[in-house]
Amino acid sequence: MEHHSHLGNRLTSLVGARLETLGIHGGGGPEPITGAVVPPIFQSTTYAQPRVGSEQDFTYSRAHNPTVSALESALASLEGLAHARCFATGMAATSALALATLESGSHVVCSDVVYGGTVRLLEQVLDRFGVETTFVDTSDPALLAEALRPDTRLVFVETPANPTLKLTDLKAVGEVLADHPALLAVDNTFLTAALQRPAELGADIVVYSTTKYIEGHNSTVGGALVMDCPELCDRLDFVRKTTGSIQSPWEAWLTLRGLKTLPLRMERHSQSARLVARWLADHPSVDTVHYPFLDTFPQRLLAERQQRDGGGMLAFEVRGGLATSLEFMNSLRLCTLAENLGAAETLVTHPPTMTHGDLDPGQRRQRGISDSLVRLSVGLEHPDDLLADLDQALEAATAKVEAS
Ligand SMILES: *Cc1c(COP(=O)(O)O)cnc(C)c1O
Repeated sequence: MEHHSHLGNRLTSLVGARLETLGIHGGGGPEPITGAVVPPIFQSTTYAQPRVGSEQDFTYSRAHNPTVSALESALASLEGLAHARCFATGMAATSALALATLESGSHVVCSDVVYGGTVRLLEQVLDRFGVETTFVDTSDPALLAEALRPDTRLVFVETPANPTLKLTDLKAVGEVLADHPALLAVDNTFLTAALQRPAELGADIVVYSTTKYIEGHNSTVGGALVMDCPELCDRLDFVRKTTGSIQSPWEAWLTLRGLKTLPLRMERHSQSARLVARWLADHPSVDTVHYPFLDTFPQRLLAERQQRDGGGMLAFEVRGGLATSLEFMNSLRLCTLAENLGAAETLVTHPPTMTHGDLDPGQRRQRGISDSLVRLSVGLEHPDDLLADLDQALEAATAKVEAS
């Protein structure tokens, strides 16, 4: 079931339209009754039925809601795919994907560096239901091929990976999976359809935390799954209405608003992040800088082949180890210490104690997450103001640690 028509279906006139246009018009045209240019929030639990047994798109908002459907149309059109489904959070989306595609005895292969919640879901929830997961370095297609089993149902890849920005070559993964029935899911949260198109490289389903760049304003939590396959979409509809994990209409409306500037924002996030990455790489108090479009990034060529730009995320190690890193983060004034990413405000995170604190030290070391790693989500402030803040915090941290 698709639900475009009630909002004035403009989608047919969008064939061949560019990303910037799709982000603005992909959710439908003016609302047909009043002509409201911005579709309203359908804040309604239920929908009147003309007679018993009538077929209609909307019956109860745990199954479908018109505002959520408008967002789904927009996300599908941005990705160039047929279907999208939105969920309460990114983790609700990943959980629904697991419930729709796995059963007891299924095997999953997952990138070894992924969002911490994805690891928790696979290792501490799904394992209790007889789902086994192998974590591998998917940046090496040979290791992926080795990890595949006849009962592998799902391959879950995140690229660039959180928080080390390690890339997985999606085309190479697609080739490894060519003769294997496992579905390939790609978490595209860090780049969005504006900068990377996983489905064009072989992904069956694209996974989003819309909480991040898609909504982009640090105002919501949400998730989405985007795909071509109608049967998979039907199974997700069934799981979503059964487990009750649909996104709320208010969050969907805010996310539709955010989507209008997504391509613009991703361009500026990328410009500023590249500038900050270069500046950090030249700074005497900084060790390694991880940013895909930096000349020193080991997978730079893959980044340029696979991504339209570098995105807004980078990570680096402050020289002097853990104490200096912590002092640096505590000394920032404009950049905010918080657990989110992908919004107008620049946010700084300490992955070992925050997003990846549930991994044990051995697991973190193996995944390249050192104790002094700092993750920066470069926002939309003027880059010179960001550099000034980073500079004063690096100076304060180095001085304080040297004095102690
Ligand atoms: C935040 C995030 C998630 C989880 O999304 P929530 O909306 O917080 O549930 C999944 N994947 C990546 C890459 C993320 O950054």
